[in-house]
Amino acid sequence: MSTGKQADKDRVQSLFKTIDANRDQLIETTGDLLKIPTFNPPGDNYLEICEHIETRLQPSGFETIKLRAEGALGDSDKYPRWNVIARHEGALPGPCVHFNAHTDIVALGEGWTKDPFGGDVEADRIYGRGSCDMKGGLAAAIIAAEAFISTVPSYAGSIEISGTADEETGGFGGVAWLAEKGYFNPDRVDHVIIPEPLNKDRICLGHRGVWWAEIETRGRIAHGSMPYLGDCAVRHMGAVIAEMEATLFPALGMRETAMPVVPAGSRQSTMNINSIHGGLGELEEGYTGYPSALVPDRCVITIDRRYLIEEDPVQVKAEIEALMQRVKAERPGFEYEVRDLFEVHPVMIGEDMPVAATLSAAIQEVMGQKAEFVVSPGTYDQKHIDRIGRLKNCVAYGPGILELAHQPDEWIGITDMLDSAKVMGHALMTLLNKQE
Ligand SMILES: [Zn+2]
Repeated sequence: MSTGKQADKDRVQSLFKTIDANRDQLIETTGDLLKIPTFNPPGDNYLEICEHIETRLQPSGFETIKLRAEGALGDSDKYPRWNVIARHEGALPGPCVHFNAHTDIVALGEGWTKDPFGGDVEADRIYGRGSCDMKGGLAAAIIAAEAFISTVPSYAGSIEISGTADEETGGFGGVAWLAEKGYFNPDRVDHVIIPEPLNKDRICLGHRGVWWAEIETRGRIAHGSMPYLGDCAVRHMGAVIAEMEATLFPALGMRETAMPVVPAGSRQSTMNINSIHGGLGELEEGYTGYPSALVPDRCVITIDRRYLIEEDPVQVKAEIEALMQRVKAERPGFEYEVRDLFEVHPVMIGEDMPVAATLSAAIQEVMGQKAEFVVSPGTYDQKHIDRIGRLKNCVAYGPGILELAHQPDEWIGITDMLDSAKVMGHALMTLLNKQE
């Protein structure tokens, strides 16, 4: 009926007005989150930030629960992995829309000229570590949910907002643990939006795959003046890396994906060598002597292989094994071991999945432009919701410029946060406003 349609339009306009009117609250909510330094590693102040989110959301009618991921990777009494889930029930039964934000931040690094924990506002920006990735996204989701609840108090369904630990180190003490405990079970949650900073007009459908492994070459220790009596593990590793340069890297560069990965440079297969260690360790600071003369008997590299949905994970590993065998065939005495560290298969949901299609329509409505569907070069917590939770209807959508994440003088745009709060609020209107 046209009256119903007009009423819906009026409600959307009133929702947008409420969000604009709450600009100061949005800035304050972001600033308050930035003031709690949640560095990970090691996992500082998780309890404090969970308690803060509880106090922030309870006055708006959210029931909250704090959960420690006891026994999860990274959890200890010194650094407990605390998570919080806040839930708001509508007046009528209906689906549950869950906003998931990680609360942890990465180290500062060099080059800051702004206070990383002050939440300082300059023109249209809020500065701070985690402003973009992703405390600003969390604040936008909070403002969106509250504006929706006040606009349509009799809505059908429920809204959850979670603040979870450890995304930056794999999410095992956060979303993975919660998914194992059933908190992302499709019986309980219907739509998941992760407000990671992918830009306010982009919807992220998934990510490439990852395989981390250690490769060790072995040799035999000897005096450095008679290296022929030993066998140098570093030279063996040199041969491995030379073979990678000659054959593997060019082959990876040739593989293109149909996944819409951004930045486009990641639309191919890639591999990084994260670290290399061999022989004597770096000498302690303050030690004034020389190192000793030794032939290294061990050398280890860590590889970070990112692969495409078109690639078979078994083949990804077999390719490295074949490379090692080629080197072995050329080098007498060559001994090696390849050890798996962890792996995540690629994920990509369809653009027509309900949460993706709803957000896409909301972006069109709020920004008057077509949403861009993208895929992330690196993984994020969607992997656990997909694999452990078996919940496919999940995307990342949030404000913030992807390239600013983990940088010095990280910031988030206030207008971007308001726009994406409107998109999230509009999505809630579509998914939960079924009372007529
Ligand atoms: Zn993040």
